[in-house]
Amino acid sequence: MRKVILITNDDGYRSPGIVALRRELSRIADAVVVAPDHNWSAAGHTKTMHKPLRAWEGKLPDGSPAYITTGAPSDCVALALLGIVPQKPDLVVSGINLGENLGADVTYSGTVAGAMEGAVNGIPAISVSLGTSEPDADFDAAARIAAGVAANVLEFGLPEGTFLNVNVPYLPLEEIKGVQVTRLGRRIYRDKLVRRDDPRGQPYYWIGGDRPSGVPEDGTDIGALENGYVSITPLRMDMTDYGFMEKLKDWPLSLKEMLP
Ligand code: MN
Repeated sequence: MRKVILITNDDGYRSPGIVALRRELSRIADAVVVAPDHNWSAAGHTKTMHKPLRAWEGKLPDGSPAYITTGAPSDCVALALLGIVPQKPDLVVSGINLGENLGADVTYSGTVAGAMEGAVNGIPAISVSLGTSEPDADFDAAARIAAGVAANVLEFGLPEGTFLNVNVPYLPLEEIKGVQVTRLGRRIYRDKLVRRDDPRGQPYYWIGGDRPSGVPEDGTDIGALENGYVSITPLRMDMTDYGFMEKLKDWPLSLKEMLP
């Protein structure tokens, strides 16, 4: 029986990234799209709780069918799994994001959060991002690579609670050097606080600054992309620092010792 892949993204249903992804994934499985009606980049793992969500049947820019919602990418996956989509997916794929998601970006990223929502619900999941900020970027190579990774996940599965964060360098397919299994690298954020006055003379703040850079260390997602490789980083929902647990137990944390 043909497998079902649930597709979402954080750039919104009009993004060419989700169009290319749906086209390539529908070669290997039935693709069901549930995508946000607007750009949610850097929405993180949102759960909308204090306002209603709307969802309707619409179309991607290429005319293919999609459910469109007012929710964040993680809401889209939740809505799909809770029943607005009749099929139960075998895999969730989120992307393809315009812009890489490396290192600590994974905690801000709405794209990665779409995959996390799949993992939280026990469904194998992949997030896919393209390493460029060019507005007219070509997603074809990244979409083919995403389909290749997806086919592997459908065949081999993933451990419960694990999902894959895939980043593709922005190069023609024949110039991509290969695929590396990586760990998260160290992002360097270059945020600057911009303070201005609004028309009523009240201050407002905007977090501005340059795009983040990173430490291009070997074995990391940042290093792989920098050197022209696709990075695949397996991530786990369990963020427990098991190594530090034993040391932490040696701290004087009894209520008797700790309370001032
Ligand atoms: Mn985005």
